[in-house]
Parts: sequence; C-alpha cells; structure tokens
Amino acid sequence: MASFSIRFLGCKVSQTDAQEVRERLLADGHVESERADVAVVNTCCVTHEAVRKSRHAVSRAARTHRRVYVTGCGANLSGDAFAGMPANVTVIARPSEETPEVVAGDVGAIGCVQDDARLERVRAFVKVQDGCSFSCNFCVVPLVRGRSRSRRAAAVLAEIRRRVTQGHREVVLTGINLGCYRDREAGFTLARLVREAGQTPGLARLRLSSIEVNHVNDELVAALRETPTLARHLHVPLQSGDDRLLRAMARRYSSDTYLRRLAGLEDFNLTSDVIVGFPGEDELAFRRTLRVVRLAQITKVHVFPYSPRPGTRTAGADPVPAATKKERSARLRAASHEACLVRWRSKLGTEDVVLVDRPGRGYGDDYSPWLVDAPVGELVRVRATAVLEEGILAA
Ligand code: SF4
Repeated sequence: MASFSIRFLGCKVSQTDAQEVRERLLADGHVESERADVAVVNTCCVTHEAVRKSRHAVSRAARTHRRVYVTGCGANLSGDAFAGMPANVTVIARPSEETPEVVAGDVGAIGCVQDDARLERVRAFVKVQDGCSFSCNFCVVPLVRGRSRSRRAAAVLAEIRRRVTQGHREVVLTGINLGCYRDREAGFTLARLVREAGQTPGLARLRLSSIEVNHVNDELVAALRETPTLARHLHVPLQSGDDRLLRAMARRYSSDTYLRRLAGLEDFNLTSDVIVGFPGEDELAFRRTLRVVRLAQITKVHVFPYSPRPGTRTAGADPVPAATKKERSARLRAASHEACLVRWRSKLGTEDVVLVDRPGRGYGDDYSPWLVDAPVGELVRVRATAVLEEGILAA
C-alpha cells in the first residue's frame, strides 16, 4: 500500500480528472495523506503562467515525495514542458481516459479493497464530455485533449446517482466543450441530459460548468428553465467583445450573437472568460470587450492575459506589450468586481440557499459567494444582511 497526495491546477475538467485518479488509487487500497510517498499533480497548460505554476508545483512535490506523477494537459503539451525535472518525476502523457489506469498501474495495485471511494462530499464534478473539435486559433486544448467525445448518458446518470448516494448535494456537469455533448445511440443532447440528471432523486442542485455561447440555444434554455434543480448560473466564455478579434480567434460568433443568445437570461448570474492582449487588440477593441461585459451583465470575469501557446495558429504572435496587458487586465477585473458588488447588493434582504463548501464560505444558487457560519457540506437557507468585498454576509 502506498500513501498519496493529489492536486490539480486549472479548470473543473482538470479537477475532475484528478478526482478520477484519486478514486482509482483509493479503490486500489492506497491511502490519501498529506505526508505521502507518491504525489500526483494534474497540470494545466492553458497559458504560459499555468505551465509555470504547474512546473513549480511538480518541483515542490519532487522535494517532499518519493515519486511524483505529472498528469493532465501540461503533461500532454508538445515540447516537454517538464524537461529538467528531478529523476523521481514521471510524466504521464496519456489521454484523460487512460491516465488513472496508467498511474495506478505504476503505483502498484493491491486489490480492490474500497470500490466505492468517497471524495470531497460537498460538490461532485461529473465529466460528461472531453476534448474539443473546434479550433480556436489561440487554444492549445484540442492539441492536448484531442477531439470531442462524450460519455454514454446511462453512465453519466448512474454516476450522478452514485454521487448523490455518497452524500454530494450538488453535481456539476463538466466538459471541455460541454455543448458538444451527444449520445446519439440513446438520443441524448446536453438539453436532455440536463433534464434527466436534474431529476435524480436526492439531488439538491445541478450546475453546468462552462458552455460556449453557440450552444445556448432554445432547446437548452428550455431545459435549463424547466429543471427545478438547475442552478441559475451560466459560465459563457466571451474571450473578446471585438468582432475583428473574435474572427482572428476563430470563435464562430460575433459580439451581437453573444448578446442575443444571452438576452432573456437576466435572472441567471452570467460569468465569463476573457483574453486580454490578444494580437491586434488596441484600446478601442478592449473597450468593446468592456462594453459587451457590461451589456451582457456579466459579473465575474476570469481574465487571461494572452500568452502564445505552442502549436497553435497564433503561437508566433504576441505584439501587445506586457504592461498594456497588465493595465487592461486590472481595468477588466475592477469592472468585474463592481458588477459582482451590484449583483450582491441587489440581494440584500432576500433569501437564498447556500452550499457551504469551506469554513465560513459557500455559494448560492446563482454562484454568488456568501459568508456563512454553518458546517461545511450543509445546504443552509440564509438571508443577505450586508455586502462585503468578498461576498454577501449571511444571517
Ligand atoms: S472551444 Fe475553442 S477555446 Fe474552447 S476548448 Fe475548444 S478550441 Fe479551446
């Protein structure tokens, strides 16, 4: 038996992949521990900074663990992002579906002594789809994750039932390009999956992780509206509000399309990703992004200062100075924070149900952050009494 620790960097899909490796090691009888023999680091490569942080996490783990396995997107990046690491570091450059098996095989199985391993109980991330068949010009994800493929609906629904039985109150459907979800044989689109997943007995809340605006169509919106357990939150990447840049990114929508598709979802909390300093972004283009963020009533924006990724169509271009990216990123983050405060203030005096996911904190139905005094894992009905810089104060 080995003891192991596991961490991930990056998105919800990376978190889900780390969870799958963890489950597999627990199922094989290994024990999770802070002071472990083996460390698994599920890495990210979406930006240059993400690779730097991943490398840092791996070198730190190599100093404190006997063996370190590097998995995830960073491990699959061309050009060996982990060259020069200590001898106790093994890079597992395999598709996510194969990674748990490969890591477990190397750590050494000792038999299935725990075939229903329990993980973090608060919120379960259930991967329904992986990979992406789009080809946005800046994006390395299709190169490291491959083409889009979906899990069978029956397997997804069974996993959701299992997670609920394990005590998870909230389930998040995750995927690299969630809207591409299809189980053609069983006749499932994402909309049907949402409807059926949302009816899982005992499930308190269903959430979508991130969805491309082109997939926010009438069928999906109807499913979101008609599924009572569905959280009123959508994360819809914008990347830019400037049509010239959207074309240069090969994003397949215009700023008008983005706004039109989200019109009518005002009761949902909209959050987004934006790339700042993409090649060709001038002040006017950046202001157009600020405008679309405002018009769409986006609250939280995850700001990604552009960094060229190896193997992508824009790998050779990075003309916007770092100082300009920094300054625009700060302006966008400030606008985002102000939009969050506006939404949070609008809740003063109203009630929500908060899932407490760490001491003193949790998220409401629409993914607004609340400051609450309740045990971790509880779903608590609260009333908003004040708004602080970090969230809504609950009573
Ligand atoms: S939709 Fe575009 S940005 Fe998103 S994973 Fe696919 S290629 Fe990357």
